[in-house]
Formats: sequence, structure tokens, C-alpha cells
Amino acid sequence: MAGTRTFSILKPDATQRNLTGAINKVIEEGGLRIVAQRRIQMTQGQAERFYGVHAERPFFGELVEFMTSGPVVVQVLEGENAVARYRDIMGATNPAEAAEGTIRQLFAQSIGENSAHGSDSDENAALEIAQFFSEADIVG
Ligand code: ATP
Ligand code: MG
Repeated sequence: MAGTRTFSILKPDATQRNLTGAINKVIEEGGLRIVAQRRIQMTQGQAERFYGVHAERPFFGELVEFMTSGPVVVQVLEGENAVARYRDIMGATNPAEAAEGTIRQLFAQSIGENSAHGSDSDENAALEIAQFFSEADIVG
């Protein structure tokens, strides 16, 4: 495997505006390889499990509703230091604070509808990848 892996979701605000290709371009130009990708409609159960760490946060219900409001693209990204690199490529959670040229600065609409998810640790990346992909789906 070339480097490490992270898990990515292109969120419903992105698929709705037909931005999959534009965001993938930023990912690839940022030095990460898309080694698995699938477009899905998340169920409420999948979204609740995925964002379980945020269950007590005030925005949890809104977040689950948003993530199930339309198709998403789930991805595995590979490269050197993939978790940190993808968080750099995405930019800050709040697009108003996201650096120039990042996915969220370029495309996000609000702190909730912020176009992309990326894992926050190697451990969570492995758990998140396993929720959506089997090893046979991932081709580096
Ligand atoms: P993600 O986990 O989606 O990559 P993140 O790690 O930058 O984003 P988290 O703190 O993990 O941010 O929050 C998860 C998601 O919950 C955010 O991406 C955003 O969509 C939503 N969210 C976070 N804070 C708020 C908020 N104050 N209001 C509404 N939604 C929020
Ligand atoms: Mg997070």
C-alpha cells in the first residue's frame, strides 16, 4: 500500500450540485489516490451509526437528516499521511474559516452543508472504511 488510508464522504450538498468530479479533482491534485468509491443513499441507521460520536451534540438530528437527504459518495483515499493530508485538502469545518483552495472554501455552503467528510484519526479511518467497504473493494 502506498502510504496510509482515510475515509471520505462527498456529502448531499455536493452530489446535488453535481460536484463529484470537481471535488475529486481537488483530491487528486492534492496528492491522494481514490482507491475505492461508491455512490449510495445512506439510511438513517447508517448515518446514526456513522456519526454516533456526535449523538449528544445539538446538531445531531439535523446532521443525520442532512446526510440522508440525497445521495453521497463514499470513498477510500490513499497517500502519504492520508488522514492529515485530506483534512488539509478539505479545510476547516466552517467554510468561512477554510483556507484558500480547500474543498470547503471552494464548495461548502455552511457549517452543516460542508461538502466533504474526512476521518480524524487512523483508528477512526479504519473503522469508517470497514463500515462501507470490504478489503476486496479497495484497489490501490
Ligand atoms: P467531518 O467529521 O464531517 O469530516 P469535521 O471533523 O470537520 O467534519 P466534526 O466536528 O466532526 O467536524 O462535525 C461533524 C459534522 O457535523 C461537520 O462536518 C458538520 O457537517 C456538522 N456540524 C459540526 N458542527 C456543526 C454545527 N455547529 N452546526 C451544524 N452542523 C455542524
Ligand atoms: Mg469529524
